[in-house]
Amino acid sequence: MNQPITPYMPVYRRAPITMVRGQGMYLYDDTGKCYLDCAAGIATNALGHGHPHVVSALKNQADLLWHCSNNTLNNQLTKFAERLVSETFADSVFFGSSGSEAVEACIKFIRRYQFISGHPQRNRIITFEGGFHGRSMACISAGGNDIARMGYAPLLGGFDRVAFNDLAAVKAAITDATAGILIEPVQGEGGINVAEKTFLQGLRALCDEHGLLLCFDEVQCGYGRCGSLLTHELYEVTPDLVAVAKGIGNGFPLSACLANARVASTLSAGCHGSTYGSNPLAMAVGNAVLDVMLEKSFFEHVSVMGAALKNELEAVARDFPALIKDVRGLGLMIGVAMAIPARELSDALRENGLLVAPCYGDVLRFVPPLITQREQIDEAVEILRKVLAKQY
Ligand SMILES: *Cc1c(COP(=O)(O)O)cnc(C)c1O
Repeated sequence: MNQPITPYMPVYRRAPITMVRGQGMYLYDDTGKCYLDCAAGIATNALGHGHPHVVSALKNQADLLWHCSNNTLNNQLTKFAERLVSETFADSVFFGSSGSEAVEACIKFIRRYQFISGHPQRNRIITFEGGFHGRSMACISAGGNDIARMGYAPLLGGFDRVAFNDLAAVKAAITDATAGILIEPVQGEGGINVAEKTFLQGLRALCDEHGLLLCFDEVQCGYGRCGSLLTHELYEVTPDLVAVAKGIGNGFPLSACLANARVASTLSAGCHGSTYGSNPLAMAVGNAVLDVMLEKSFFEHVSVMGAALKNELEAVARDFPALIKDVRGLGLMIGVAMAIPARELSDALRENGLLVAPCYGDVLRFVPPLITQREQIDEAVEILRKVLAKQY
C-alpha cells in the first residue's frame, strides 16, 4: 500500500543486486563482484553452479525432446523413476516441479490412502510447530508460520499442530480422525531444528499402532544435504511417504513424492496429476544429478565437510559468546543461532562476499553446495569472523 510497485511483485526481500553468472561455489553479479555461495539457491544448488555433467544433460535433452504429455512415457522418466525406487525405500514415484507440489501430493495421498482403505473419517494430519512445507493453501495450512498464513483465510482444515521433538504431545493428539503425521526430520525455515532419533522412531511406532501414515518432508534436508541420499536413512526409520525437491534438480524445477507400495496401490489414473510433472528436461536433469550423487564417497564427503564446517562455526561461537547462542545441524545443513538480528548480519556478510540464508529465530543458515571443499569452508568462516569482529 505504501510501497513502490515494482514490475516483479514485492513478495521477496530482494537485495539490490543482479546476479549474472555462477561457477561452482561462486556467484558473480553484473558489476563483476564475486560471492561465495553458502546459501545455494536456498539449499538447492547441491552440485554448485554450472555443473558440467548436469548442464550437458539439459542441453542434450533440449535437442531431443522438451516436453510431452503424461499420456505417454518418456525414456528419462522411466529411467529416473526406476533409479529412485532402487536407491530409496520407495516403490513408486510422482513427479512435480516444486517442493509445495510434492508436499501437496503427500497430503492428498495420506487422505486418499485412508479413504480407499475404508477409513474415510481418518482425514486429519499431525504437523509440528516450526514446520515449513511450502506456499500452497494446503502447505501454509500445514506449516507452523503465522506470517505465511496471514490474510489467506479460510485455510484448509485438518491439521493438528504439536511441539517438535515431543512424543507425548503427538500421542495425546492422535484421535480416531487422525490419518497421518507430516514432519521435516530437520526443520529448515523454522531455524535448523534436528529431530531426535528416538522421536522419529517413536513416530513410526505410533503410526504402526494406530494405522497412520508417516510422511517426511525432506524437501530441504533430504537429497544428500545431511550426508545420505534421504535423511531418514540416518535415523533408521522407514516412512510411507517422502517429499523431495530443492537438491534433486540442482536448481531446475523438479520435485518428487516418493511412496511405498501400500500408498501407491491406493492411487489410480485421474486421481492426481501435473502437466509439467515428469517433463523430459526435468527428468534428464534429475538423472544427471543422481549420477553425480551416486559416485563413490559423495555422501561421505558431505558428512566430512559438514563436520568441518560445524567444528569451525563452534570455534567462532566460543570466540564470540555474546553474539552466538548455538550452532546446530546435520551434514551441510547448519544453523548458527545469533543473539543479534540475523538478517542484518547476513546483509553485512553479503557485502563482504559471503551468501548465507537467514531463517526463523535469528538463525544464520549455512547450506552450501555439497561439492564444497575445505578451502571454501575456511573462506566462509574467515568472512564471518571478520564481519563479527569489525561490525559488532
Ligand atoms: C522449500 C521448502 C518447501 C517448498 O518448496 P517450494 O519449491 O518453494 O514449493 C517445502 N518444504 C520444505 C521443508 C522446504 O524447505
